Amino acid sequence: MLDNVRAAVAHRPKQPLDIETLSLDNLFPGEVLVEMKAAGICHTDLTLFDGSRAWTDYPLVLGHEGAGVVAETGPGVTSVRAGDHVILGAIPECGECPACRSTRLTNLCDTFFKPYPRRPFSLDGRPVRAFVELGTFSSHAVVRETQVCKIRSDAPLDVVCCMGCAGATGLGAAAFTAQVTPGSTVVVFGLGGIGTNVIDGARICGATRIIGVDTNPAKEKTARIAGLTDFVNPKDIAGDLVGHLREITKGGADYAFECVGSAQLWTQAVECTRIGWGTAVMVGIPPSSHETIAFRTRSILEGRRIMGCYIGNVKTRSQLPELVDWYMDGRLSLDQLVSARIPLEQINEGFAELKAGNVLRSVVQF
Ligand code: ZN
Ligand code: ZN
Repeated sequence: MLDNVRAAVAHRPKQPLDIETLSLDNLFPGEVLVEMKAAGICHTDLTLFDGSRAWTDYPLVLGHEGAGVVAETGPGVTSVRAGDHVILGAIPECGECPACRSTRLTNLCDTFFKPYPRRPFSLDGRPVRAFVELGTFSSHAVVRETQVCKIRSDAPLDVVCCMGCAGATGLGAAAFTAQVTPGSTVVVFGLGGIGTNVIDGARICGATRIIGVDTNPAKEKTARIAGLTDFVNPKDIAGDLVGHLREITKGGADYAFECVGSAQLWTQAVECTRIGWGTAVMVGIPPSSHETIAFRTRSILEGRRIMGCYIGNVKTRSQLPELVDWYMDGRLSLDQLVSARIPLEQINEGFAELKAGNVLRSVVQF
């Protein structure tokens, strides 16, 4: 039992997070105690307390992007031990279910969809939920071994913490899910933390033209460092955006990535790809998973392909280390993703900066 755990807790929607002192339960078999070193502030966390998503399970420790050091392991844990540097993953990799064992393209471990009723955090004896069973905005966390990825110890945790969500989602969408081919033309909708990593991934795959679409002109600079070749601000386009994108790509892009989570943008992402082999990949998460999206039936009959992924289809434990190697080999622009490093006490300011579009990622350091 740990008693002095400092964590950012959402108690109800449309209220700032409170910094609370929580307790953490002893380890169950298969669980790991992680001393958190750094955690990235992602837009998905924001939607869980700003009222834009229907969420009722409060109190809630937020945070699903994080890196730290293993402090203790529970019975039966074999893949990590005390002192190991780890990145936490929102999607478990049990290694045993049909999805984990398959060589097909998916990271959707069966256990991700099974309720895990454990509530290791508590506040004054009352159990506290952890978002995606992680809760990385906390000095310590008890998580399942299947959500813990051991990484090389020379990787800076205050940067590679962003691999858990933004890095894996963007890089994986381009390199694992779409498998962008050399010489391709790519359109990326939304140039935030995810979009920037899609650009990195597309560039590594050999895309020669990468067009970014965003209404915030301040996003152009960082996207160019990642590999953007053309910036399109929809506000500057006189006619329709899809027509413009088709024109500058001479008939349509080979790949389009929607990184915002907007049904309207998703339609445009499909329609801006070329006939025959254009591939549209849904990366952003809409506020409601029941939202419907529309496009012309002909768009599909014309041979376009539609794909989607959570966390880029990157398997948490077996595939994240390779992405860390990409960073350590100097192939990624991940350093610039971390716009600010802040203490836990400033987390609400970090969310405000993200909402205002002033930062790609603020990283909470413990
Ligand atoms: Zn995220
Ligand atoms: Zn599995």
